[in-house]
Amino acid sequence: MERLQKVLAAAGIASRRKCEEIITQGRVTVNGKPVTELGAKVDPTSDEIVVDGKKIALQQKIYLAFHKPKGVISSAKDPEGRQTVMDYMHGIKERVYPVGRLDYETEGLILLTNDGEFANLLMHPKFHVPKTYMVHTKGVPHGALLDKLRTGIELEDGMTAPAEVEYADADPDGKEAIVQITITEGRNRQVRRMFEAIRTPVVRLKRIRFGSVFLGGLQRGKYRHLTKAELAELR
Ligand code: URA
Repeated sequence: MERLQKVLAAAGIASRRKCEEIITQGRVTVNGKPVTELGAKVDPTSDEIVVDGKKIALQQKIYLAFHKPKGVISSAKDPEGRQTVMDYMHGIKERVYPVGRLDYETEGLILLTNDGEFANLLMHPKFHVPKTYMVHTKGVPHGALLDKLRTGIELEDGMTAPAEVEYADADPDGKEAIVQITITEGRNRQVRRMFEAIRTPVVRLKRIRFGSVFLGGLQRGKYRHLTKAELAELR
């Protein structure tokens, strides 16, 4: 059994707060009887819930992994009219939105869902989801610089938490490298700012892992549904 306002919000009627108003205004019936108290519990799978005379349709919860190309906005809408991740959600009727964000210039794995509670949980700073990035650099940062990233580096919004950092590839001429970094925070442009702090230009940034989910062979611009095992580990 779940609280009526939570069920209405999950069905996409309105925000939880607004749903509370809708209930107290007497606009909701459960199995034909008007319900105006906020504490009311319902079974969303068997009770018939009607708002303003219309039966609510329960949205199925869906969880997607998407390979965002570079040059695509990770929010649902862009005031400048650029391409967003939504332009790639062909065949998805549910109203999904991205979990966190990736910069316009960053490519790789981003999760999308219509489960607000799940998204909030994953984005909460207390919930240290490991995120792994492949950072293509101009020049090869030497080991002492990578050590700084490992232990924590001062950014304008404070010290970063310890990170796992290793070379994935380094060109013997010293012209370029690929550094793999795993961070557990999610500050704005964090990886780019960490590399700026060690004065190493980033030429390409790609996220390959978000918690239990790996980008793997998912093609650029394509999505897939998360597996039960991936979801269970993320929760
Ligand atoms: N760190 C960044 O700098 N950019 C991203 O898109 C993600 C992490």
